[in-house]
Amino acid sequence: MDRESLRLRRFPKAMKALCMIVCMVMMGLGWSSPASSEMLRIGHRLCYAVSEMTMPRDVMPSTFSCAGVPEGYQMGTLWLRASVSPDTHKSDDLSLIVHSSRFDRLIVAFTYADGIVERQDVRSGDFGIHWRAGGQLVFQAPHRDAQLAAVTLRFDKVASARLLRIRLVQRGEESTQTTGLAILIGAALVLLLVGAVYNASLALAVRKQFSAWQAAWAASMVAWGACWSQIHLFVFPKMAGALSAQICTGLSCLAIALATLSVVTALNDVHLSRWLRRTALGLSGAVVLLGIPLSMMRSGPIDQLGAALGMLVLADLVTVAFSIGQAWRRGSHEARSFAGAWAVPMLVLASTSFFDADAMFWGAGSQIFVLFAAAWQTLWLSIAASRVYARMRVERDLAWQAEAQAQELARRDALTGLPNRRGFIDRVETILDHMRNADETVAMLLIDVDWFKSINDVYGHDAGDVVLQGIARCLAPEESSVCAVARLGGEEFAMLVAGMENVALMRFAELLRGRIGSYDHGAVIASRAVTASIGIARAEKAADFHSLYRAADEALYEAKRCGRNRVAIQLLHAPEPSDNVRRPVALES
Ligand code: GH3
Ligand code: MG
Ligand code: MG
Repeated sequence: MDRESLRLRRFPKAMKALCMIVCMVMMGLGWSSPASSEMLRIGHRLCYAVSEMTMPRDVMPSTFSCAGVPEGYQMGTLWLRASVSPDTHKSDDLSLIVHSSRFDRLIVAFTYADGIVERQDVRSGDFGIHWRAGGQLVFQAPHRDAQLAAVTLRFDKVASARLLRIRLVQRGEESTQTTGLAILIGAALVLLLVGAVYNASLALAVRKQFSAWQAAWAASMVAWGACWSQIHLFVFPKMAGALSAQICTGLSCLAIALATLSVVTALNDVHLSRWLRRTALGLSGAVVLLGIPLSMMRSGPIDQLGAALGMLVLADLVTVAFSIGQAWRRGSHEARSFAGAWAVPMLVLASTSFFDADAMFWGAGSQIFVLFAAAWQTLWLSIAASRVYARMRVERDLAWQAEAQAQELARRDALTGLPNRRGFIDRVETILDHMRNADETVAMLLIDVDWFKSINDVYGHDAGDVVLQGIARCLAPEESSVCAVARLGGEEFAMLVAGMENVALMRFAELLRGRIGSYDHGAVIASRAVTASIGIARAEKAADFHSLYRAADEALYEAKRCGRNRVAIQLLHAPEPSDNVRRPVALES
């Protein structure tokens, strides 16, 4: 089966698995909303009234309406009232949980059967002891002998009645829920924070735009998560309420735009059509543009603008999904990673449109889904990016290795395996630099095979090659940190030795000459003896390659001239005004 069809077969399997996971999570979350928690809604259990804000604190409206929707409350006071039945609730064990929203002040009044009213209040910038992680405010009904008869909420300058989420919960249940939520939110935020730091480090290390956007997105989700869940109130208690709610709106729009950017920057033009890229970018820009005024508004058409923003976000997410789909079909590796990362948030968002998520997950609602989906996404993409970068690193290391090998080969002689002229010059320069600093003597030996042409002529070129390899074998063992050996070309070899005085140098050259002369090249040349002449240039002080080579060549010429199979030496002195080269002296064998 070819890879393409295997991939196509795998895709629905992966999607099915994801669907099952999401369904199981949804069911789990459904169960996590116990019967002891009751959602209060306008028209369902809540009746409402609207009044001027000037009404005294301890006065309540005389009439409440239980049908229709409240209007004209944004600049005044919205009253919500729920009667508490002794059949369903134990009066001394109730908590009212209100999800934080944009309002100036909230007073919760617990009215008891004996007519006593106990009030607790919070205001924007001061939630006192009432705030809990998960973006909620908790008001515990005071313990009294009388039965609790009703709960009344007074919201001053609330931005939207539609966005209010209010629940009545048994007190034991409430502390379990808020503690559980705090742990879950903390875990999700830590995951996102780690993702943000990790992606930022990746972006710095490999300079990839995608990782930078991904880090920015994870960071914006951390900020949003901290703001939505109110965990930031530990540090900034004055941000409680409307200000945080407004910042949250702005951050969520920014996060959508950054998520879109991270996808479209990772997909290249080959895999993603230009119009789809532009549509995604345009929609994310529109989300930010609409999010800015919406995050600043305290009154006005917030519900309508919120609905429009919701549609834009949905359109943006659908475009991102299409972009990933298109890039996947066109064979993009990144798209496959994105599909896994985005599938869960998309399914979660889609499912929250069908389920009423407000009461789910201990009242944390769709926001906690989004937080976990974001943690999933950032983890998935961090792992995917790490794998891509790890693969790139392996490829880079292999390329470096191949280049180093090519460089090494370019400096070696193919026939003898010794360094060639280029390799020799490199090594010599390194040794000369070192010697210059150490102020030591250096010598260059040029070793030329005698009458080599006649070997070629009599026994053939291949036999000549075997002889050259044999001579290389005689010289190679001398290779060390202070001695460089090379075949410069043809039948000419060279050595650079450091730290040898005249006598030692002559002894060394004679040793080499003897070794070459006594080497048995075998039947290819009918065991004919092959000799070599050696020219030495020795410098007492620092010398450069070219002057050493020139002097060694002259010495070699002298050795040849004096009958071959011998060593000649020439000394290079410290520069003198007239002549710094002494005439070469040939030593007979
Ligand atoms: P002399 O003693 O003066 O150095 O004489 P020679 O014959 O050694 O020197 P000459 O320069 O006249 O000849 C060198 C020969 O080496 C000529 C060339 O064909 C041969 N030669 C050069 N490179 C190779 C090689 O890689 N393999 C073989 N077999 N022969 C080579
Ligand atoms: Mg020769
Ligand atoms: Mg020669």
